[in-house]
Amino acid sequence: MAVDRRKFLKLAGLTALGASGSQCLDLLSGSEVLKAADHAVNTSKTRWAMVIDVKACSARGDCTRCMDVCHQVHAVPDIRLKNGEVDKQHEVKWLWKENFEKALPSQDHQFLGKGLKNLPVLVLCNHCDHPSCVRVCPTKATFRRHDGIVMMDYHRCIGCRYCVAACPYGSRSFNWSDPRPHIKAVDKNFPTRTKGVVEKCNFCAERLARRDPVTKKPLEPACVVACREVCNALVFGNLNDPSSDVRRVLKANYVIRRKPELGTNPEVYYIV
Ligand code: SF4
Repeated sequence: MAVDRRKFLKLAGLTALGASGSQCLDLLSGSEVLKAADHAVNTSKTRWAMVIDVKACSARGDCTRCMDVCHQVHAVPDIRLKNGEVDKQHEVKWLWKENFEKALPSQDHQFLGKGLKNLPVLVLCNHCDHPSCVRVCPTKATFRRHDGIVMMDYHRCIGCRYCVAACPYGSRSFNWSDPRPHIKAVDKNFPTRTKGVVEKCNFCAERLARRDPVTKKPLEPACVVACREVCNALVFGNLNDPSSDVRRVLKANYVIRRKPELGTNPEVYYIV
């Protein structure tokens, strides 16, 4: 997905003028870029995706098991104010819950049943097929792998936050201060980050790289494993494998995605 110098300079100009993420997206949504992204998706053997069953996810009230496990294994800081409340301005999140209107605004209407409207919706990076965050990153610190995972190279991140502005889902967090003093228990299997770096969900790429010794399959994301023991609301798998669980669930249920009208093509699906 090469972005030529002219387009990049235009984008930098727009960003300096305070252009919105959607304007930046329009600028860089040239058909050749989208065609290249679609080609990569269609020809890859693996395309990771997640399905979230919204009702099953909230069946046990305010269960936070998946979020707790995710934040623990990825050393996500828990930044709090002096009174113990979450510091909303400096909060770092990989996996969290939003209210229905904010998570799925395209589905919200005045006649929506209260049962659905009051449901909290689990949200994360959507690992979009056409990720606006990747298009605007000037250093390629964020990039899309062949299996569709949108990654972060923390060492290349210069903290410009173009990606934060360009993501229409608010899926990225910025470390305004050193996160390390706010990490409850550092898991040595995943690197901690530094001040001035952007981070977000990585679909547990570090686990997918390892194999289960019995099944020989890649290890599933930590949130999916944790959820299975409690709500069993998450399914993860390879979209390009017709026999995968994720394909079976997508075939059997009506699913929606977040802000499909933006053309980013999210790979996180919701059963409502
Ligand atoms: Fe990028 Fe946001 Fe899509 Fe994740 S959800 S790939 S951060 S545009």
